[in-house]
Amino acid sequence: MTAPEPFRFPIAARYAGMESSPLKDIFALAARPDVVSFAGGIPDPALFELADVQAAYDWVLTHHGARALQYGVSEGELELREQAARRVSRHLPTTAEQIRITSGSQEGLFVAAQAMLEPGDTVLVESPTYLAAVQAFSVHGARMLGVETDDEGVVPEALEQAIREHHPKFVYLIPTFQNPTGRTMPLARRRAVAEVLLRTGTALVEDDPYGALSFTGTTYPAIASLPGMAERTLLMNSMSKLMAPGVRIGWIRAQGPMLDTLAVAKAAISMQSSVVDQLTVARYLEVCDLDAHVARVSAVYRERRDAMSAALAPVLPAGAHVTRPEGGMFLWAALGEGFDAQSMLAEAVAAGVAYLPGWSFFADSPDRSTMRLSFVTHAPEVIQSAIARLGEVVAAHGGR
Ligand code: PMP
Repeated sequence: MTAPEPFRFPIAARYAGMESSPLKDIFALAARPDVVSFAGGIPDPALFELADVQAAYDWVLTHHGARALQYGVSEGELELREQAARRVSRHLPTTAEQIRITSGSQEGLFVAAQAMLEPGDTVLVESPTYLAAVQAFSVHGARMLGVETDDEGVVPEALEQAIREHHPKFVYLIPTFQNPTGRTMPLARRRAVAEVLLRTGTALVEDDPYGALSFTGTTYPAIASLPGMAERTLLMNSMSKLMAPGVRIGWIRAQGPMLDTLAVAKAAISMQSSVVDQLTVARYLEVCDLDAHVARVSAVYRERRDAMSAALAPVLPAGAHVTRPEGGMFLWAALGEGFDAQSMLAEAVAAGVAYLPGWSFFADSPDRSTMRLSFVTHAPEVIQSAIARLGEVVAAHGGR
């Protein structure tokens, strides 16, 4: 008797070939204790305000009791929507009614895709852009097209041309301390991009998880806050990088009929985000000084950015281009022609240092010489010695 074939579940075409992401293998390697990993975008857990978060959970369970453990509404708990509206209103007048709570911005991206995309639609993104956003849009059948960027973000002329040629459903941008490059769009560039979107009648998904993590004290207005833009923008914020990613709380700011569609999509996906977590984040925002906490975190990250920039400068090849972010978590290095960051990675890991090869952040035409390095997780001394080891690997591949 022959053994029966093992059962195979049917896999949707949109997930076919996605079973083994190259990044999964990299994360496994980078998790080795002898490897200093700059690969993930992992906030330093030593900076979490554990006591404040614990106090907020205690308060919620004591004062809300069963309500905190019951189903809630798809829009999100009112207390949290009020707190979110207060924060967004610093640059864009917003009511609690205009906020939809999501389980992190990752779900926000998925909700937005659910609400807007048909298979075959085009989405324009920065080249490079956030990998998991591309994934959230692609699994909805979208065709992803990367638009040219320079040191100030997406190039308005290239954006306009791509919009006129490809008629995207929406444009997805991370204007401040971008993932993966760390770059920021100055105000003039934001205005130019807004004009293109207004002129062409295009919707914007504006993802802003990092904007508050400024090293210079400078903050930038959301593109959503520029004249005419609020009605055509879904603005996303997240507590992941400011408070803690484990609470999985973010929100979308929108207005008009889209608010109802977002609530229906959210209900279809997960009913609502965890009520106890929402009420806890609301309590935390009410009684703790998030701005002071973010200022402390930013000061630590700034030192680490300095350490990484200083360590990289002498070890990168002559033609390399490296960003010096004014905030956020990531720095981006393009080593230049002839280098392949993916094929160097195994040697780097053997030398005890990991990064994320940049190719995976491009929707199309990847620059394979690029790498993303997160500077936030390790202390400056650890960064210095690990980057020195990375420099030896680069040198062995033709660097100086
Ligand atoms: N957008 C961007 C640009 C990000 O970098 C991240 C996290 N790496 C997210 C969204 C999702 O974050 P979360 O779901 O934790 O809010």
